[in-house]
Amino acid sequence: MVLRYVSRAVIACVLLVLTALAAGAEDDDMAGRRQAMLEAVRDSVRQSEDYTGYSELSEKVMNAMGTVPRDEFVLPAYRHLAYRNTPLPIEAGQTISQPLIVALMTELLEPQPTDVILEVGTGSGYQAAVLAELTQHVYSIEIVEELATSAAQTLQRLNYDNVTVRAGDGYAGWPEHAPFDGIIVTAAAEHLPPPLLEQLKPGGKLVIPVGEEHGYQELLVVEVNAAGEISRESKLPVRFVPLTGDR
Ligand code: SAM
Repeated sequence: MVLRYVSRAVIACVLLVLTALAAGAEDDDMAGRRQAMLEAVRDSVRQSEDYTGYSELSEKVMNAMGTVPRDEFVLPAYRHLAYRNTPLPIEAGQTISQPLIVALMTELLEPQPTDVILEVGTGSGYQAAVLAELTQHVYSIEIVEELATSAAQTLQRLNYDNVTVRAGDGYAGWPEHAPFDGIIVTAAAEHLPPPLLEQLKPGGKLVIPVGEEHGYQELLVVEVNAAGEISRESKLPVRFVPLTGDR
């Protein structure tokens, strides 16, 4: 009788150790894939230098990209592809952006450790997590409630306490927390949303894709100075899902 209990306990311990070893091996594997993703992003940055003017991105942005576990933000069916330098489908027919684009938009925003940032288009929460590695607080708005809920849960599980997500139409910004040091929009707008320009601190940057739903879109960096004058610079032709909402 005692022997039976002892052997059951031994088997349970062996299973626990094997499970822990398998989890450790998977973590190592994901970390290795994340490094490969960084190399792919570095290559793509070099290839797009003629458009963006960047031959490489800053160490702090690359470190943030190397820290956030993208595999936690993708659907289980796409986990094995999480570290490919490609966009991937998420719930509600939306996408998690290509790592190159996440890294480049983060770089263009020039986030500082004391910054408070607004993101429009939470999606999976991945871009918000990358920004959270570099700034004081990220407010993120997602129009699809199901996505807002699941992104908030993922971010909470990964201890990103400096990200606040809410469901809503980000075209109107988040006036209660404005003005923002920077605003990033991860869906393509047909024009620059006036509320977002109004909620930007003087000298702050708005990084936003602008263009037609299935046509030409460009990634813009927009600045508004203290006199309210707007300057804009086009950085790259891009293809984003549209900024939706009733207007
Ligand atoms: N930043 C996301 C990530 O890291 O996974 C990727 C965003 S995905 C390319 C664009 C997201 O913008 C979608 O989840 C979409 O539902 C959302 N979206 C579209 N229009 C919106 C709006 N008016 N306000 C807020 N979110 C919007």
